[in-house]
Amino acid sequence: MLRVLSVASEAVPLVKTGGLADVAGALPAALAPHGVAMTSLLPGYPPVLRALAKPLVAWKFDDLLGHKGRLLAGQLGGQDLLVLDAPALFDREGGPYGDANGRDWPDNWLRFAALSLAAADLAVRQGFDILHAHDWQAGMAPTYLRYRHAGQATPSVMTVHNMAFQGHFGREIFDRLGLPAAAWSIDGVEYHGGVGFLKAGMAAANVITTVSPSYAREIRLPEFGMGLEGLVASRGTQVRGIVNGIDPAEWNPANDGHLAARYTAASLARRRGNKRALEAEFGLESDDGPLFIVVSRLTWQKGMDVLVDVADHLVHSGGRLALLGSGDAGLVAGLSAAAARHPGRIGIRIGYDEALSHRMQAGGDAILVPSRFEPCGLTQLYGLAYGCVPVVARTGGLADTVIDANIAALAAGAATGIQFNSVSAPALADAISRTIALYRQPALWKAIQRAGMKADFTWAGSGALYAQLYRELAGKS
Ligand code: ADP
Repeated sequence: MLRVLSVASEAVPLVKTGGLADVAGALPAALAPHGVAMTSLLPGYPPVLRALAKPLVAWKFDDLLGHKGRLLAGQLGGQDLLVLDAPALFDREGGPYGDANGRDWPDNWLRFAALSLAAADLAVRQGFDILHAHDWQAGMAPTYLRYRHAGQATPSVMTVHNMAFQGHFGREIFDRLGLPAAAWSIDGVEYHGGVGFLKAGMAAANVITTVSPSYAREIRLPEFGMGLEGLVASRGTQVRGIVNGIDPAEWNPANDGHLAARYTAASLARRRGNKRALEAEFGLESDDGPLFIVVSRLTWQKGMDVLVDVADHLVHSGGRLALLGSGDAGLVAGLSAAAARHPGRIGIRIGYDEALSHRMQAGGDAILVPSRFEPCGLTQLYGLAYGCVPVVARTGGLADTVIDANIAALAAGAATGIQFNSVSAPALADAISRTIALYRQPALWKAIQRAGMKADFTWAGSGALYAQLYRELAGKS
């Protein structure tokens, strides 16, 4: 058994703000069949502490950057869990990164440096084979291994779930990080005159991974690397891409308790019940045209401004749109105005609603994902599993997981969706027109739905790839 310590700032089902939580929560079970025993380390936020039934104190830290802490050991879903109980850092109401008003906690650098330091010390002292750090919040873990455990450091993996979030802090925190002066350098933690947590982790880790092969290539370019493209390029083949999986216990139309009608690839006609229910829920007219859906953060990254621009085209071409999302006020206003212009044709729900997102995948005909960049993306994977055909920008994980319905792919029965180049109004409008044309050929459309439903994006394949990477690094391949 290979022993891996995974450190992340969130994991389902305990604490989630985004895709990172899904991955950190799913990995331990995905790795178990591959001879990897993964222990997860999480911060002791109140809901995490409450979930520990009868915790044992596994370790005590007298001085985690000036704070006391203990590691509580428990189990979660049959997997080993360690929680850093440091009340001064993590025992507060609000979100994992900020208060109830969305303001970042001013000591986030200290909170996540302490988490990282605990992870590094633990990995070495307890003889873990690998330390796996996720995102900037854990970025200092490989850094502490490098500077505080030189010569006996545990091999480390740094996974980047989104290059847009880097954990950049002022120069003044450097002296309080417990690092030697040598760490203040361009190949250490220094980044544009401050301290970059993600940058530091990427510089120190043995291997960098991100969540799709295409995104792993894209982040070598300034457009996607967000300032770290030079560092990525310099790490050469030590930057890998492994796509995320989806959890079939949560996302399977054959046994999804949220749906009006459950179905499989062999009973696609049953989707009609879900479509009618969805139309009613969004106040949309019923007709024989396609129902597009969007489930998304409403941000520039997700191309939602372009969606606002093509809303009229979508309706004039015979489509309808049901949208669920939350985010930028300007985009909410633009989408609300589109819905007001097209009553019965465009319906929107602003907010976060997990159950509704399931009903939308099961009742929609096609899901639009016009992201400007997308490290992996999950909603297109849910779309594939649910026969809700993904219409996606050709970028990152969207490019890697959807097979465009070009003539060759259609002839081979391989097509699973529609891809388009460049996130612009004309390109998205064209993709919508192509989608509607395909939808009007029922045999072809069904073949695309079925091919998508057959594609396996559960964790089986990606779990094996992570296990192989750990073995390589531990010298146990
Ligand atoms: P990102 O992590 O960049 O937001 P992903 O596609 O990787 O994008 O993951 C988004 C996840 O959040 C998916 O599981 C999606 O279904 C869910 N989601 C996004 N917005 C909403 C919403 N408003 N209501 C319910 N689920 C949402």
